Amino acid sequence: MTDTNSLMWVTQRPELVFVEGHGSWLVDSDGKRYLDFVQGWAVNCLGHSPEIIRDALATQSAKLINPSPAFYNEPSLRLARLLTAHSCFDQVFFANTGAEANEGAIKLARKWGQKYRDGAFEIITFENGFHGRTLATMSASGKPGWDTLFAPQVPGFPKARLNELDSVAAQIGPNTVAVMLEPVQGEAGVIPATTEFLQGLRELTSNHNLLLIVDEVQTGMGRTGTLFAHEQSAIAPDIMTLGKGLGGGVPLAALLARKEVCCFEAGDQGGTFNGNPLMTAVGVAVTEALLAPGFLDEVQAKGDYLAAGLHALCSEFGLTGERGSGLLRALLLDRDIAPALVDAARTMAPEGLLLNAPRANLLRFMPALTVNREEIDRMLSCVRVLLAST
Ligand SMILES: *Cc1c(COP(=O)(O)O)cnc(C)c1O
Repeated sequence: MTDTNSLMWVTQRPELVFVEGHGSWLVDSDGKRYLDFVQGWAVNCLGHSPEIIRDALATQSAKLINPSPAFYNEPSLRLARLLTAHSCFDQVFFANTGAEANEGAIKLARKWGQKYRDGAFEIITFENGFHGRTLATMSASGKPGWDTLFAPQVPGFPKARLNELDSVAAQIGPNTVAVMLEPVQGEAGVIPATTEFLQGLRELTSNHNLLLIVDEVQTGMGRTGTLFAHEQSAIAPDIMTLGKGLGGGVPLAALLARKEVCCFEAGDQGGTFNGNPLMTAVGVAVTEALLAPGFLDEVQAKGDYLAAGLHALCSEFGLTGERGSGLLRALLLDRDIAPALVDAARTMAPEGLLLNAPRANLLRFMPALTVNREEIDRMLSCVRVLLAST
């Protein structure tokens, strides 16, 4: 058995040590291969160790790793220009994790409230939403039980219900400064906000002079078939956060905002590793790969292909259905068998399959955006075998 005692225990992990990864495949220390439909929780958008990222790291590390966040560096300027050129936002602040980017979004909204809205500070967030594991982002999250874990919470995050505009309107008061949501609730079980809801939210927030913040940490960077998920509802939010896919596997996140909202003063925001050239050089390489002609169309096509395959499983096994957007999808199982299926998939022989169960009654699929149809077929046939034997 591997000696894991020196690592602080924070979660149950299988007795496996992964030593290599290429594309959609991982290899453990016994040489067993695993088809990976988790990809670090929708992080490795170009798969494991793609050449594009290896080259970016090698080239940039030979040139400059970190001059300090007090100075400009070329890759961070390039990545900021790329992201603003392809979105409705004007300025970018780089962070290292999604939670940190969301903390930045919360701070920016509160700062804007202090400056322009008589100190309004409340940010309406959603039941079952997920925004990270810092104190403020846990408070902003709507995960059951998180309101008492590490109490007291950071105040100022009243909760509404996704896709129920009235529940948002009911929470608006004199202290409200913003509404923050995931365009597709990921950890909640891949629940998309409807176009109608997002458009209604944009109108409601504009009418009340509130900021609209989209947490695209999971849905951004091509995951749903467009560069950002909110584009599909043709809305222009005021603030957006990115993480996960932005670095394609390395720690990189971002806070983006429209110019009118960018009101930080010197010293309000910063961080030792923020915007370092090594990580932002990877961000440039990843973003350029996603923007290559045809790439996002292919993500959409493969998302449709995966959806069709999941639908076929539903018919075959009499399951309720599937849902999602692009290559972020869930299969609804009706029974609480998802954790057992995840274990059974991983221990299949000779090759394992890595799946994720954010809820006990559903499986979530977030393969590399570079996954091919054969790999999707292979995953589907494994799930078919597993379903047939439960
Ligand atoms: C993963 C995730 C986060 C947190 O990102 P970390 O990098 O783990 O801090 C925040 N919001 C959403 C929607 C996420 O999926």
